[in-house]
Amino acid sequence: MEFDFESEQSIDFQSDLFFMSQALREAGRAYEVGEVPIGAVIVRDGQVIARAWNQVETLKDATAHAEMLALTSAQTAYGDWRLEGATLYVTKEPCPMCAGAIVHCRPDRVVYGAMDPKGGAAGGWINLLQSNPPLNHRCEITMGVMEDECVGILKSFFREAREKKARLKDERGPEEF
Ligand SMILES: [Zn+2]
Repeated sequence: MEFDFESEQSIDFQSDLFFMSQALREAGRAYEVGEVPIGAVIVRDGQVIARAWNQVETLKDATAHAEMLALTSAQTAYGDWRLEGATLYVTKEPCPMCAGAIVHCRPDRVVYGAMDPKGGAAGGWINLLQSNPPLNHRCEITMGVMEDECVGILKSFFREAREKKARLKDERGPEEF
């Protein structure tokens, strides 16, 4: 289901829904260029101060996850590596690398859409953001915001990728195998 702001009468520009829809917009950019569609925004005082989408293929960099790029950009906007008072919105649960980076950068909150029980590090598989014994920073976590949309864009991306692969196989014909 599309989140339609045009027909929405009372848009709460401070709400998790609003900022997650901004993160989804970033995920859409990733989708358009053939990247796994994950997007992130970082918000402080009700303002988006950083936005990024997954660019692993574009940059040929396995660390170029949306969260990593958004954190770097937010630190530039802050003029500091301490992102106190900030909230990170991301369409999919952060992986261990990103969760580790989040702990270092110390935003107050992390909000995500799709849970990742196989590799998520914000409660899905493990929880580095609220570990026990704790790391040097703990984040508040809100999960499942616009979950259907966040899962949906990933599912359609991978479905399309599978179909494309199957088509290529058909075009080459069985004699080549
Ligand atoms: Zn990551």
